[in-house]
Amino acid sequence: MKFLSLLSFAVVTVVTLSAALPAKKNHPARIMEKPLPTNPYYSRTDTVKLNLPDSVWKRVLSAELYAVARHKETERAFTGKFWEFTGHGTYYCAACGNALFRSDAKFASTCGWPSFFEPVRKQSVLYKPDNSWNMVRTEVLCARCGAHLGHLFDDGPPPLGKRFCMNSISLDFEPDKADGNSGKQRSVR
Ligand code: FE
Repeated sequence: MKFLSLLSFAVVTVVTLSAALPAKKNHPARIMEKPLPTNPYYSRTDTVKLNLPDSVWKRVLSAELYAVARHKETERAFTGKFWEFTGHGTYYCAACGNALFRSDAKFASTCGWPSFFEPVRKQSVLYKPDNSWNMVRTEVLCARCGAHLGHLFDDGPPPLGKRFCMNSISLDFEPDKADGNSGKQRSVR
């Protein structure tokens, strides 16, 4: 009987200690539960330019957005959330909230990335020559925070002939309030 009591005590102790121990550092459940960082620099109304060091952006952006916005990575074609999205509304910089494009300027492109023929305001974006990867291209950056958005090409639809080829992850979308088309499939009753 005494042995059984001791055994029960040992089992209860082991179970209690296991529950109290932290999960292993790289356990998948722990990675999935990691919350997105909060970004105090994001604003849809503040137009003051941001000139922040890379270390700050690394802290306030998700790893995926940081890689594209601050280190000019490109998301894989046909994988972004907006490449064939048709909602009516405004696209903002995902890093800082600066208004970038209206859905009226978005057009169906076969390139696999969301494409626009003009920005919402000329001052919304900046341009920079980009000769990387043995190509001559024009990089498009957010004029408020300097985030890499994508590239500008001269093969867009008339009359402007421009194609702003953007990374979906660099964009946030806000649907028009008066418009029912949020770009998502509506449920049918
Ligand atoms: Fe920005």
